[in-house]
Amino acid sequence: MLVSAKDMLNKAREGKYAVGQFNINNLEWTKAILLTAQENNSPVILGVSEGAGKYMGGYTTIVGMVNGLIKELNITVPVALHLDHGSYEGALKCIEAGFSSVMFDGSHYPIEENIAKTTELVKLTAEKGLSLEAEVGSIGGEEDGVVGAGEIADANECKTIAELGVTMLAAGIGNIHGKYPENWKGLAFDALEDINAATGTTPLVLHGGTGIPAEMIKKAISLGVAKINVNTECQLAFAEATRKYIEAGKDLEGKGFDPRKLLAPGFEAIKATVKEKMELFGSIGQA
Ligand SMILES: [Zn+2]
Repeated sequence: MLVSAKDMLNKAREGKYAVGQFNINNLEWTKAILLTAQENNSPVILGVSEGAGKYMGGYTTIVGMVNGLIKELNITVPVALHLDHGSYEGALKCIEAGFSSVMFDGSHYPIEENIAKTTELVKLTAEKGLSLEAEVGSIGGEEDGVVGAGEIADANECKTIAELGVTMLAAGIGNIHGKYPENWKGLAFDALEDINAATGTTPLVLHGGTGIPAEMIKKAISLGVAKINVNTECQLAFAEATRKYIEAGKDLEGKGFDPRKLLAPGFEAIKATVKEKMELFGSIGQA
């Protein structure tokens, strides 16, 4: 059964570890992440961007797939199905479809509008027992065509949004989506300290978890980060393993073209990446 991310994140924040959000793209991705979470007794959050939602055939298709896998694979660790960087309308659709958690990304709106729309969604999600993530200060890089400049969130604005009653808060601290450039300055820990102090016990969310050095991840967790989003890293691992399989000519040997064989190395690569992240985030054994 899908659960809200609230309990798992409050527990993580208190226990000084973080729960990984791993974005899904298809059946292989979903199965790999769920099995890895179960094998390592770790809570997990499956992230779905609006673009990936369309790609997979719509939100109800995804809810059906995830619920089916949880049942058939006997997944007993806590699993949240979460809309990533949702629009207001997208959040409503996911709530309707049966997601257990949504993010409303109002970071590109003026703060007043972000507050107004987040307030509405706090009400709606609370009624249904779902978790809600809000965002202040856009995350750099590109995600589904939305390009953020990588702002540093204002601590007072974070406080205002946190006090609306959101479950968890994504705050820009110099993190970006995708691969980090050579000249990246690193996470702004001064800003994170201020945000953490201003937002009480609200679990903080670190987007763009691909390629952030391990020491920075650990420091961020010590400063209130309890959810870390990983997307690109699984994509890179899947692509590399699949490329190697093809380049070695294995699809031309016997029935190597069978999708169950062709996609197996990528599936295993996602599993290895997810496990590595769970180890780094400290969520293993915390289910
Ligand atoms: Zn993000």
